[in-house]
Amino acid sequence: AQAAFRSDLAPLLELVGTGKESLSFMKKRIRHLAQQWLWAQSFLILIHIGFLTEESGDVFSPRVLKGGPLGEMVQWADILAALFLLGHSLKVTVSLKELQSNLGVPPGRGNCPLTNPLPFDLIYTDYHGLQQMKQHMGLSFKKYRCRVRVIDTFGTEPAYNHEEYATLRGFRTNWGYWNLHPSQFMTMFPHTPDNSFMGFVSEELNQTERQRIKSNKVSSMAVVYGKEASIWKGKEKFLAILNKYMEIHGTVYYETQRPPEVPAFVKNHGLLPQHEFQQLLRKAKLFIGFGFPYEGPAPLEAIANGCVFLQARFNPPHSSLNHEFFRGKPTSREVSSQHPYAEDFIGKPHVWTVDYNNSEEFEAAIKTILRTQVDPYLPYEYTCEGMLERIHAYIQHQDFCTTPSPPPPAKAQSPAMQSPPSPLVLSPNATHLMWSPSARRDPHAWPPADSLQVWLSEGQHACTETCRRRGLVCEPTFFRFLNKKEVFLQLSITCDSTEYEMNHLYPAVAENVHECYLQKEPLLFSCAGHNSKYRRLCPCRDYREGQVALCRDCL
Ligand code: UDP
Repeated sequence: AQAAFRSDLAPLLELVGTGKESLSFMKKRIRHLAQQWLWAQSFLILIHIGFLTEESGDVFSPRVLKGGPLGEMVQWADILAALFLLGHSLKVTVSLKELQSNLGVPPGRGNCPLTNPLPFDLIYTDYHGLQQMKQHMGLSFKKYRCRVRVIDTFGTEPAYNHEEYATLRGFRTNWGYWNLHPSQFMTMFPHTPDNSFMGFVSEELNQTERQRIKSNKVSSMAVVYGKEASIWKGKEKFLAILNKYMEIHGTVYYETQRPPEVPAFVKNHGLLPQHEFQQLLRKAKLFIGFGFPYEGPAPLEAIANGCVFLQARFNPPHSSLNHEFFRGKPTSREVSSQHPYAEDFIGKPHVWTVDYNNSEEFEAAIKTILRTQVDPYLPYEYTCEGMLERIHAYIQHQDFCTTPSPPPPAKAQSPAMQSPPSPLVLSPNATHLMWSPSARRDPHAWPPADSLQVWLSEGQHACTETCRRRGLVCEPTFFRFLNKKEVFLQLSITCDSTEYEMNHLYPAVAENVHECYLQKEPLLFSCAGHNSKYRRLCPCRDYREGQVALCRDCL
C-alpha cells in the first residue's frame, strides 16, 4: 500500500534509537536536513471554504444539526485530511477577513491588486470563495486564477464555463462563466471527465469487521435514506409495501414531535451522530432512497457496510432543464436515478435501480433483495488510499499556469514543409483510431497520450457515453490530438467542407450534409453534450480498476 507523506520527522528519530555512535551520526544528519526534506515535498496551500463565510450567508452551519446537507462537510473534511497527510502546509480560512489577511490585501483596500506576490502555490475554494477572491484581489485574480481549484459538487461543463459562448448560446447560469480550465473544477462524483473527480472517503472495513457485520445483519431491517422530513411526503404507498416485508427505520430530524410525514410504523431515530448512523447501517439489510437527496455520500456508506441500496429510476432523467433542484446549475447532465454513480459504477447485487411507478416491480425488487446475500463493498476510489493516490497525482501533474505551446497553424504546405505524420492509425478492425506504436511518446504529457483511442459518437450520445460504452473514459486533454482535418480522413469520413468554429460539440461531422467542423476554442473541448445533428470525435482512454480518474500508465 502507498504510504502518505508525513510532515514531521520527530517520530523517525525515535525509531532510529540510540546507543551507537553511527546511529547518532545518522540522526544528526536527519535532523539537519529535516526542513529541506519537508519543503521538497510540500506546497503552501490555502483552503478557503467560501460557503461557510458569513459574507456568503453561511446557509449551511445552522442546518448541520437539523438534517441539512452534510455531504459538503464530509468532502471538505476529507480534502483537508488528504492534503495534510500528503505533507502540504495548509492555511484554512472561513471568513472574508482571514482570506484578505492571508492573501496580503491591506485592510480597507478591497478591490486592489495584491501588493506582494501570492504566497500560495495552490488555493482550494468553492464558487462563493471564487467570487470573494475576484472581488478582493483586483487584477491579481486574473494572474493567479490558474492556481485555484474549485470544489464544485455537481460540476461545471465547458459550455457553461466559457463566458462568451455561454452568453451567446444561452448557457449562462448563476454559477458558471469563469473561463477557468474545466479541470480546475473538482466534483464529488466522477460526473463528466471535463472536471476533475475529487470525491471523498467512506470507511473501509477489515476482515474481522466484515465477518462480524455479516453475522449481525438483521435481514428484515430497512433504513430510509434522507434526514429531512419532506422526502417522505407522498411516499405512503411504497412505505406500506415495504412495511409488509421489513421493519422500517429512519433518521429524520425532528425537534420535539415525530414529523407528521413519517408514519407511525416507522422507527425514527432522529438525526444520528455519524458514528451511530454507521452502526445502524451495519445492522440493516436494505438502504432505500425515495428520490432525494441526490448523489450524497450515504448510499456509499450503506453499501460499504453491507446494505443493498434500492433507488428510483428517473424516467425522464432529471436535469437543469426539467427540475427545480438542478435549475441554474452549470451542467446539462441528465440524472437517471437518485444516485447515478451507484447505478453505473456499482450496480447489482449492491444497487437496485427500479421504476417506482410500477408497484409490482418495486415489490418484486424487495422480495429478491431479501433473498440476496451481499458482501460489504467500497470502490477503491472512495477509500483513503484511493483518494490520497488521486489527489497526489493531480498535485503532481495538473498545471494550468503554463499554457502548452499551440499547434502550428494549419496553412497550405509546400511539399518541402510536410507536417509530421499523424501519431494516430486505424485500429486493426477499422472501428476507431489508436496511437501508432511507432509514434513518439512525450514523456511530459499527462495523462500519457498513448492510451488514446478515437471513437466516433452516435448522434444521440455525448463523448462521455461513447467512451463508457467501450469500457473507456473520455479524456478531454486528448482533444487536441484529434482536432485535425486528417483525423476525419483517417476515419473515412467525407468532408465536403471543414470549418473551425466555437462549439462545445466540435470536432464533429454533420454526416448527412458531409460537413466537418473543428474546434476553434480549446476551452470549449467538452466530453459532455450531444446533438442529433452531429457525430462527435471522441477521445477515450483506459482507466485503473476502481480509480476512473487515472489511466493505467498514469502513476
Ligand atoms: N449522516 C449522519 N447522521 C444521520 C444520517 C446521515 O451523520 O442520521 C451523515 C452520513 O454519514 C453522510 C452525511 O450525513 O456522511 C451526508 O449524507 P447524505 O448522503 O444524506 O448527503 P447530504 O444530502 O447530507 O449532502
